Amino acid sequence: MPEKQNKGGIVSKKILVVEDEDSIRNVLEVRLKNCGFEVVTAADGEDGLNKARAEKPDLMILDLGLPKLPGEEVCRQLRNEENNVPIIMLTAKTEDVDRVVGKVLGANYYMTKPFEWTELLKKIYKYLDMEEQAESGPAPSPEA
Ligand SMILES: [Mg+2]
Repeated sequence: MPEKQNKGGIVSKKILVVEDEDSIRNVLEVRLKNCGFEVVTAADGEDGLNKARAEKPDLMILDLGLPKLPGEEVCRQLRNEENNVPIIMLTAKTEDVDRVVGKVLGANYYMTKPFEWTELLKKIYKYLDMEEQAESGPAPSPEA
């Protein structure tokens, strides 16, 4: 399958967003697309795990608290399959980070919600091994 290219002719990196909160998932999808990424989304852990396997994203943003399958289990299963996709884990509380990091489950980075978009974007570029974009464009208005 040929890789998709964005308007600049640069091959788009694919990001999988697994988040059950509609508002967060939708905002991330719009913002990431505005930055030129190809975006795949899932609203529960089971769908997220399936899409991680099927879509082979370049990076995953994975919520910890998810219906059907918790984020830590999604992460654990992928690592058991020797899937080394970079995973940025979103957690609701700092205590969750301590708990999850204590389990050494294999996420690359953890962010506590509410998170700073610019900080998340920095980490995305870092784990995709891309140069940070100087300007990511104006803040997007959610599109219908
Ligand atoms: Mg959640």
